[in-house]
Amino acid sequence: MLDNLTNRFAQVVKTLRGQARLTEDNIADMLREVRMALLEADVALPVVKELIARIKEKALGQEVVGSLTPGQALVGVVQDELAAIMGGAQSGLNFATQPPAVMLMAGLQGAGKTTTVGKLAKYLKEKHRKKVLTVSCDVYRPAAIAQLETVTGQAGAEFFPSSSDQKPVDIALAAIDYAKRHYFDVLLVDTAGRITIDEQMMAEIKQLQTSIKPIETLFVVDAMLGQDAVNTARAFNEALSLTGVVLTKLDGDSRGGAALSVRHVTGAPIKFTGVGEKLTGLDEFHPDRMASRILGMGDILSLVEEARTAVDEKAARDLADKLRKGKGFDLNDFKDQMAQMRKMGGLSSLMDKMPAQIAQAASQMQAGAPEKAMARVEGIINSMTPAERSNPDLIKASRKRRIAAGAGVQVQEVNRLLNQFEQMQKMMKQFSGGGMAKLMRSMGG
Ligand code: GDP
Repeated sequence: MLDNLTNRFAQVVKTLRGQARLTEDNIADMLREVRMALLEADVALPVVKELIARIKEKALGQEVVGSLTPGQALVGVVQDELAAIMGGAQSGLNFATQPPAVMLMAGLQGAGKTTTVGKLAKYLKEKHRKKVLTVSCDVYRPAAIAQLETVTGQAGAEFFPSSSDQKPVDIALAAIDYAKRHYFDVLLVDTAGRITIDEQMMAEIKQLQTSIKPIETLFVVDAMLGQDAVNTARAFNEALSLTGVVLTKLDGDSRGGAALSVRHVTGAPIKFTGVGEKLTGLDEFHPDRMASRILGMGDILSLVEEARTAVDEKAARDLADKLRKGKGFDLNDFKDQMAQMRKMGGLSSLMDKMPAQIAQAASQMQAGAPEKAMARVEGIINSMTPAERSNPDLIKASRKRRIAAGAGVQVQEVNRLLNQFEQMQKMMKQFSGGGMAKLMRSMGG
């Protein structure tokens, strides 16, 4: 996801290297690049214009302070403005003071509504310890009702049955009544979608919203639709006044533009992003983190958070510490990380969150089948002595031969691993201390 945009930005940052100060001229060059990058990523034109104007104003408006070079400062401005256009601060879900909190899902057919209800049920149950009930008002497709029953079961939540001969409003009201009597905290209401926006669907969901007065009306939209996602969001927002957006399929071939446009165009914050079909594939949306991800600075925070839930707390804290300090990150940690990655499932979802350079090194390392390549890397590390693992500098030619023989690989493969490890270690160090500021200095200076 977002690879193209990230690569374009990397180019922009490179051309800024060595610039002593910001001038109207070199800002103009850079802004042109940023503009192209955004348009290529399918960001809506009004949003691009607004962003460029804001970046220009801030960059020229003496916000270059302290020990930053102009180049770094400019990257900082771009990052801030990207985050701002996506809403600035993170927006969580609202819960009613009087349970149940009713949440209505809206969106086109195939956007991922039903899947998202399953993901949300799991998220609410596990992260917020809520008792969750789901119900489907899709009376046109019995299969949709059955699908909701399945994902609800997988999420460990309760499903309120409905059938095609009922009216959507009646179904929802009955579910609310049931939720009240059985002390549910949250009721997730799935609805029918159409292939395109049509009046009947809009009228139906409007009526549903008026009758059940949900505290959240979440618009679920497929990020891969690009500009169309934005247009659909606008239409739904006009009819329903949305409280939030869930951007799905960010794992797919999305150019990322929707993430940057939706908030600006609708005023409704993106609250979650969907990645993958599994019920674990739901992430809270953090504009600032997304902005740094777009700029290729990776998303160490999300990474660490994910690690926290997947591995035991202490190990995760140690890893987070090491990442932060960039210190003592050795081949043992490297190997542990690989094992943890596997625990966390989707390698690719994880790679998205790493700084571009690390992800690149990691993807080179696992050319071919990832699992197989990872096993080879583990084999090589296993053939090292503990001393070698904590101090790879010890590994000279004869040791390399011994390790290669032990792991049943060529010496070149050992060399490659050591090189990649070294690069990764360097990257880790750049996140140490000043973190982002340091990293920017290295790129912009
Ligand atoms: P609905 O018609 O809006 O209820 O959409 P569904 O929940 O049935 O989803 C349509 C298809 O998209 C299904 O095959 C889902 O597995 C898939 N899907 C939903 N969310 C995601 C996502 O975040 N990533 C990917 N790759 N697929 C998704």
